[in-house]
Amino acid sequence: MAWYPGATKYELQPESDSQPAIRPTQFIVHSIIAPWTAKRTYEYWRDSTNLESHFGLGYEGDLGQFIGTETRADANASANRRPDGTGAVSIETASNLQGSDPWTPAQVEKLIALGVWLHKRHDIPLRICRTHDDPGFGYHRLHSAWAVSGTACPGDTRVKQFREVVFPGIVARANGQTAPPEEEEDEMTPEQAKQLKALYDNREAAPWRYKGKDETRDAYDYLRTAARDISALKTQVAGLSAAVQALAAKVGDDVDTATVVAAVQQAIADAVIQVDVDINGKES
Ligand SMILES: [Zn+2]
Repeated sequence: MAWYPGATKYELQPESDSQPAIRPTQFIVHSIIAPWTAKRTYEYWRDSTNLESHFGLGYEGDLGQFIGTETRADANASANRRPDGTGAVSIETASNLQGSDPWTPAQVEKLIALGVWLHKRHDIPLRICRTHDDPGFGYHRLHSAWAVSGTACPGDTRVKQFREVVFPGIVARANGQTAPPEEEEDEMTPEQAKQLKALYDNREAAPWRYKGKDETRDAYDYLRTAARDISALKTQVAGLSAAVQALAAKVGDDVDTATVVAAVQQAIADAVIQVDVDINGKES
């Protein structure tokens, strides 16, 4: 039973006591298709249905919590609680009746702050869920297992905001690269401002990553770049290991340097081909 200190507690009974425990591994955001305050959302869960989300967020940034984050809430179909006891923390956010408007700046700020807290409190990893049960962050329509019969939630505009603003904001703040906005003006030094600018604007630092692209850098760029770098490192390590083994095998042999070098080069070539197959599934 965990309650976020930044939210107003509107505890839902009997669900808060009667629903089973979960180990929260995901955070899934929704639009509720109503311009409701957090309190109005609470009243809806309490009076009109036995479903509920963990959190509700109004346009003004008013954030309410209805169920502890270690108790199941019922907003994400099979992600609410899986057979292994893990489950998703859910938030319903105020929207227009078409679910087409963007989150307000106040909503974006609260989503980021809550995401950082969930990461720190429950170790939810800083990535977008790659599969329906992969620990991380997501939005309702991201995986079909999260909706009983399909959903557009939270709408195109907010999906874009999630990928470009909210999730990168959670990552940056969790890593200490940005302060919450109310502290920024007072506490950011010119050097920090420069670092922040470099973080968001590092086309100049790494222009090859932007070849033919006009979009600003998003979280997926970081992930793709990291994956490529790791592949390259694995290849280098495999080559090094092979070289060391080949050298060790020649120790004590009465052979000339050229023979040793040839053996090492062959060992590296074999190792690198093997790694490439493992990583990319190539037939090379
Ligand atoms: Zn939804």
